[in-house]
Amino acid sequence: MKRKALQMTGVWHRYGNTTALENLSIALHEGEVVCLLGPSGCGKSTALRIAAGLERAQKGIVELGDTIVSDSEVHLPAEDRNIGLVFQDYALFPHLSVIDNVKFGLKRDRSGMAESKARNALEMVHMEKFLKKYPHMLSGGEQQRVALARALAPQPEVMLLDEPYSGLDARLREKIRDEVLHLLRQQGCATLMVTHDAEEAMFMADKIIVMNDGRVIQVGSPAELYFQPVNSFVAGIFGELNKLNGLVCGNKAMTSLVDFPVQKFATGTKVEVVLRPEALCLLPLEGSDIYFEALVVESRLLGRMSYIHLSSKCRNRDGENINLHCKMPGRVLPSTGEIVRVYVEVEQTFVFEKNKQ
Ligand code: ADP
Repeated sequence: MKRKALQMTGVWHRYGNTTALENLSIALHEGEVVCLLGPSGCGKSTALRIAAGLERAQKGIVELGDTIVSDSEVHLPAEDRNIGLVFQDYALFPHLSVIDNVKFGLKRDRSGMAESKARNALEMVHMEKFLKKYPHMLSGGEQQRVALARALAPQPEVMLLDEPYSGLDARLREKIRDEVLHLLRQQGCATLMVTHDAEEAMFMADKIIVMNDGRVIQVGSPAELYFQPVNSFVAGIFGELNKLNGLVCGNKAMTSLVDFPVQKFATGTKVEVVLRPEALCLLPLEGSDIYFEALVVESRLLGRMSYIHLSSKCRNRDGENINLHCKMPGRVLPSTGEIVRVYVEVEQTFVFEKNKQ
């Protein structure tokens, strides 16, 4: 069993009337990359700031390794915690050169090796040629690399990253996050990263903690969360969903569209059937005998994928056709007005008890 690097237990925090964290308990083990994922305002940054010691929790315990760094009696300030911090705005000192910014992160280093440690850290992030430059002379990606070098240079036990790529454009973001992940793995640094971007969390994390309204909703590997979400909130965090009302009868959830197999609900239970756009397939799907007919309202080519707006031929209880969105590889681009057969991939379809979120 790997050693715990960071543990937060029963943490509560309020700002005035706003409850930012409600009984939050999370754990991060040696060498693990964990992402806090959730919508804006759900308490992710507050959790990270409390882990860092920038904020003191009103209730609960924070441990780094085997040491309690915060509880009702103790509160170790951020500078006395062996952590690295990287924020979205990089927070480099504008009046300090690249090397001095990194050396600032080593100001408590008593080994007399601060200069060489700072140079090593800058080499790790491929910024060794920029030692004498100032932050305003660097691109966003370069500044983020320096911020990372500054955080890594003291070899922290735990790295805390708050939306570290959100200031970068999409292509640079993919490149930098790939580099950062390799670097964190190479250093074996336990990392807690905050993001609202599910794809980013899936790319980076060994474990994702999904939060909403200051609470943990589900913890699991990216695949567990994607394929076994506990409710439609978690399913929806990975993208748009098609939703249908259903009623369980035996081992089926009956909807206006088609019947879906269910196992765990009693007859008469009202359910919500949730289908990812990727669950709808316009080509025959091996092993799927669930399908329906629909009219193509509109097709849009998005590059690798196409996005298709469908309207079911059958109607719901209010006598309306059911609108659905479907995503297919871009070569499938039916014309408006075409009638298509839509196959349903059951693995991407989830049935949840209605009003039990
Ligand atoms: P996230 O990082 O998920 O966007 P935050 O942790 O920043 O969420 O915020 C959680 C809640 O606490 C939000 O409702 C936010 O408005 C509130 N909040 C955060 N910081 C402060 C603050 N310094 N003063 C008052 N309210 C705050």
